[in-house]
Amino acid sequence: MSTDIIEVNHLHKTYRDTRAVDDLSFRIEGPGCFAFLGPNGAGKTTTMKVLYGKARPDPRDETQLSVFGYDPRSSELNIKALAGVAPQDDNLDQELNVLQNLQIYSKFYGLAASKAAARIDYLLEFMELSERRTARVRELSGGMKRRLIIARALLGNPRLLILDEPTTGLDPQVRQLIWDKLRSLIKTGVTILLTTHYMEEAYQIADTIVIMDKGKKVLEGAPRRLLSDNIESYVLELNRPERKDELVAMLKPNGHPEIRVEDSGERVLYYAGNISHLEDLGSHLAPDEFLVRPSNLEDLFLRITGRRLNDAQ
Ligand code: ADP
Repeated sequence: MSTDIIEVNHLHKTYRDTRAVDDLSFRIEGPGCFAFLGPNGAGKTTTMKVLYGKARPDPRDETQLSVFGYDPRSSELNIKALAGVAPQDDNLDQELNVLQNLQIYSKFYGLAASKAAARIDYLLEFMELSERRTARVRELSGGMKRRLIIARALLGNPRLLILDEPTTGLDPQVRQLIWDKLRSLIKTGVTILLTTHYMEEAYQIADTIVIMDKGKKVLEGAPRRLLSDNIESYVLELNRPERKDELVAMLKPNGHPEIRVEDSGERVLYYAGNISHLEDLGSHLAPDEFLVRPSNLEDLFLRITGRRLNDAQ
């Protein structure tokens, strides 16, 4: 039996004629943070749902699934006892207050009342929700609800925490707070598996990123390594879409064959390993017409798929 926390081989999931997950394989040895990064519709949520038994994969002989050695197709409850899940949709009880939402869940985990009370106090404190313990869910902000869902997922003291889009729709400050909490959980040895379409989220907190598109894994690796192995270090971005044609004509990078140009129609990007080549190019432009910056996962995604991560946003 596998000693990995998760092992997935040849996972397929089809909804009618949509291939949500298309021959996906990956292993998570843990501990650490693993981020599935991809645009809407890439198959990230479906993958998570299969792992915790909420979605059934296509029946195929080649498919192998193991979460803590259990197959989610047959041992959903064993996995539920070991893994905490924070789904994307807000499935909190709106009429109950913060404390009651956690108390109800603690009963599912079979926690004795006194133990549950101590655990709930600790988690409310940890998630900075203590002052809102008697507030009804419908009175909470989006960020507080997210934190409550994560606290709820932590009730059973799980070794594995599955978070589906933990910060989607939240403002940058709340997002930062949640990242801090996740970092401190990782330090305590909890393995986190999360999905996101924010490259910054994956880059900031993941040890390993699996980039997904159209149900497939397109790349996998440590964030910095993914960039250094697959894309030039720097990019020059034109700021003035209305003058694009004029600027592009002016910037024929003939003198620098090592500069790669990516023209997606609305945006033009010039990539190079050496920043001075881009600065040379920029010297033909006014300062407000361009920006030279380090390349990022969004650039990498564009390079591999020809599309932007957040097109659908
Ligand atoms: P992501 O989490 O990356 O946004 P999803 O796993 O939610 O992607 O969806 C992958 C694809 O499967 C999408 O095309 C989506 O519309 C489709 N899909 C997901 N869930 C269902 C469902 N319950 N019924 C039909 N199609 C679905």
